Amino acid sequence: MINLDEFKQYGYQLIDWITDYYSHIEDFPVKPDITPGSIGQQIPPTAPEQSETIDQILSDFNRIILPGMTHWQSPNFFAYFPANASFPSLLAEFLTAALAAQCMNWDTSPAATELEEKMMQWLQQATGIPMEWRGVIHDGASMATLTALLTAREKALNWQINRTGYTSPNRFRIYCSEEAHSSIEKSAKIAGFGQDNVIKIAVDEQLALIPEALEKQIIKDTRAGFQPLCVVLAIGTTGTTAIDPLEPVAQICQHHGIWLHIDAAYAGTALLLPEFRWMIKGIENADSFVFNPHKWMFTHFDCTAYFVKDPRALLKTFEILPEYLKSGPLGQVSNFRDWGIPMGRRFRALKLWFVLRNFGLESLRERIRNHIRLAAEFESVVLDHPDFELMTPRTLNVVCFRYHPDKINDNKNLDRMNKLLEEQLNRSGKLFLTHTRIREAYTLRMVIAQTNVTRDHVTHAWETIQHQAKTIKE
Ligand SMILES: *Cc1c(COP(=O)(O)O)cnc(C)c1O
Repeated sequence: MINLDEFKQYGYQLIDWITDYYSHIEDFPVKPDITPGSIGQQIPPTAPEQSETIDQILSDFNRIILPGMTHWQSPNFFAYFPANASFPSLLAEFLTAALAAQCMNWDTSPAATELEEKMMQWLQQATGIPMEWRGVIHDGASMATLTALLTAREKALNWQINRTGYTSPNRFRIYCSEEAHSSIEKSAKIAGFGQDNVIKIAVDEQLALIPEALEKQIIKDTRAGFQPLCVVLAIGTTGTTAIDPLEPVAQICQHHGIWLHIDAAYAGTALLLPEFRWMIKGIENADSFVFNPHKWMFTHFDCTAYFVKDPRALLKTFEILPEYLKSGPLGQVSNFRDWGIPMGRRFRALKLWFVLRNFGLESLRERIRNHIRLAAEFESVVLDHPDFELMTPRTLNVVCFRYHPDKINDNKNLDRMNKLLEEQLNRSGKLFLTHTRIREAYTLRMVIAQTNVTRDHVTHAWETIQHQAKTIKE
């Protein structure tokens, strides 16, 4: 194993590698064109008995691994939602890795806990989440949503299932829109509610949940002997960033005594902009809220901010105190291991500190506004083009569209053509985008949110799309 002096030498070498990588990131195909198994094949079936040099390993990294990577930090990445990074965040990740602290308790690194508390307050202040709420960093929105469902369950039954397990047939029901994220069903499976008890509520023209349909279903279920437990509202669905209406849904939840969890995993970042605060008008009547700085807010994965109105309910659900953890002051400090499922925790607040300070809120807002502006421009060129169709009105910086030459009206054929267009674009390596289905129709998604994306990248992508579309056989 290398020693400290050698570490220093390779460390400098890697900084050169990293700066070179970022200077030439656009030269790589955004998504590699790889046949399954071809990377694994190049890696020996067993670990070496004898030490290998860092030079050897780095050379294999460049030869085997790098060509098999998707370049998420390329400004030509328009797929899924981004997992944005930035240089201040990267520097903080160096330090987190260097300290390699296990930040499960206040006592195991007081600064990590206290910085995390402050960063959550900074985010509350910057996004309009009520200051009386408390926040904690989780690894992902899926984990936060599971945490919310478990807390809702325990609070509803006075922490009985935590003690005795399920003693009667499960009659809980969870509600979300037809467009909601799969993590809700996954959480319902894990929490013991059963996937069949996640009830998908119809959506309107904008693909947002219809409150009247929700209330009707809740009343129907109550009459049938179910216990409506939780509504998961989407502020920015994954397919199209549809915004479910918070105010009327919060009223329904309050009226029926149901936990309201808000999943703003992606779109939560837009709350930095005052002009988008309407999305969470009425949040004081909700119970929990999650968003991912690790998607759009230029902070390395993993960094999910989870906020709750009633931290005591959360703590009461997850707190457990074995003898080996009885160290340090109890009661007067936060022990974040009790705020979720994993015990061990990375020092994830540090990168938020670096990002929020080095960007500053003003320049974060500017960058986010610019993404939204670029998406509005993209939307308008799609609308103006006779052979392309906008599939749903844009809400933020995701544009849903398809290739649709005038003379073709057969939906199956349009699906085939758009799937082919997507495959060909991605295989070209020039850009990477993904799709969703809107009312069954195969729809391309252009997510203009990468940290370093500029108007030139978007213009170039649009030219590539038009050009490639022309080669698709009708
Ligand atoms: C991405 C996403 C999730 C899942 O987030 P993870 O952090 O990957 O668990 C959940 N909900 C929505 C709306 C998302 O866009």
